Amino acid sequence: MKSKLEFEIQAQSGLARCGQLRCGHRQAATPLLVQTGAVTAILTSSELAAAGTHAVKQSALDYWLRAAGQPDQLGVTDLHDYLRWPGIIVGTPGATQAYRWAKPRGRKPTGVSFHDPATRQQKLYTPQLAQQWQQLLGCDLQVGFARWENYYAPVDELQAAARQTTAWLETVEWPANTLAPVVGGGLKRVRRASAAAAQAVQPGGYALLGIDPAVKLAEQRRILGELTALLPEAGVRYLPTCGALEQVLVAIAQGMDIIDSDCAATTALHGGAYVGTKRLHLTKEHLAGDSRVLVPGCQCPTCQAGYSRAYLHQLLQEQSPVGVRLLIVHNLFVLNRLVDQLRQAIRADRLAEFMADLAIDC
Ligand SMILES: [Zn+2]
Repeated sequence: MKSKLEFEIQAQSGLARCGQLRCGHRQAATPLLVQTGAVTAILTSSELAAAGTHAVKQSALDYWLRAAGQPDQLGVTDLHDYLRWPGIIVGTPGATQAYRWAKPRGRKPTGVSFHDPATRQQKLYTPQLAQQWQQLLGCDLQVGFARWENYYAPVDELQAAARQTTAWLETVEWPANTLAPVVGGGLKRVRRASAAAAQAVQPGGYALLGIDPAVKLAEQRRILGELTALLPEAGVRYLPTCGALEQVLVAIAQGMDIIDSDCAATTALHGGAYVGTKRLHLTKEHLAGDSRVLVPGCQCPTCQAGYSRAYLHQLLQEQSPVGVRLLIVHNLFVLNRLVDQLRQAIRADRLAEFMADLAIDC
């Protein structure tokens, strides 16, 4: 077994906790944000690290398709070397994407069958392949293969997806660094059964799947609190759902240890810069003459270099990729700093006060 997963909880405040995650020789403090999507496509590894990032996510499906199933076609086996990323890499099967490409009859007991949009070839992606490729790529954490269903899918479909997910969890040999999928969409009893099945295989932790960012924040809060109560204290809890900044903070308050995040980039792509948890919209005309940096006193590389709001406004008007990059660096830095402060608040057992100061209802 290549990668061992160790998780130590060091402090709690309400449902939230902070601790230390060790994956082999790599480690990171939790709650831990995992950068995914546009952030990792736009910033280099060193820029990500300079903005305080410790973990990125990679999809095994992408590499499996790119290499046409042949590992020697990849030119590399370890993603840390390939991406020049020394931090933690969270693997994902990429099953959700495969299911989105598949027709309803593509949902097989053996996996998911779909047409590769790049080659138009028919593919069968299986839980065994997802496991092998996450391991082959050197992912520090793996996520088990789940049959995807929409959060609002009918009862029988959600039940069928949960049964199938459990069967794959029990029949495929998952290594110790695997996070077992918990599914069930909007149905409490299906989620409860899925959480029980996941615990039965004694995984390294749990990946709470299918909680769509489109689900209202109050409902997310309720469901996450409910799942936290069902899962054992000791297991690491991963929420692979990207949402807005408020959703990230609420997920941490509800006891999540690892959370996917792309809000720094999505906010920047809309011309927004974080000022605390608020947004400054750089596209607004009155900023054209504003010589101040984004946030006076901010220690991020963008503000430290002295780029003015006026210049960033101009870059965004010109649709310059440089403008978006500078904004992402600032947003990512602010986001990671906020999570650092949140960890300190958990350690001091004053999370509720911290969230109240941010005007976030946790
Ligand atoms: Zn800044």
